[in-house]
Amino acid sequence: MIIGEIKDGYVIDHIPAGMALKIYEYLELEHLDCQVAIIKNAESGKLGRKDILKINEIIDLNYDLLGYIDQKITVNIIENGKLKAKIRPELPEKLTGVLKCKNPRCISSIEQDLAPEFRLSDREKGIYRCVYCDTKSENLFNG
Ligand SMILES: [Zn+2]
Repeated sequence: MIIGEIKDGYVIDHIPAGMALKIYEYLELEHLDCQVAIIKNAESGKLGRKDILKINEIIDLNYDLLGYIDQKITVNIIENGKLKAKIRPELPEKLTGVLKCKNPRCISSIEQDLAPEFRLSDREKGIYRCVYCDTKSENLFNG
């Protein structure tokens, strides 16, 4: 893997092909002033094709979101131009502010200030339920 010119930041690798832009949006990377590189359809032995995101700054990275998107994603943390750690985010027990409850009567749908919160109810199938009304979430990324 080529770290390139990153001094302090992240290389988010093994992103399923086509997902890098969605991750970019969900992590709100457009608000960053630093360099962000999106590499689409990189060749990957195991997966065929993959996307890679490079962020040239240490930020408050949302590992829960990355784990939710795909458990094959690896996050390489770069410090001083060297690989400091490699993290593989897992499916989080709780997910706050990512999924929205589809139940129109749910308090999280009515109260604008209330952040939607979901808990993992089936790890194998990746099913989440609203903590307020128990409604099953739709999978945001896999249809
Ligand atoms: Zn709900």
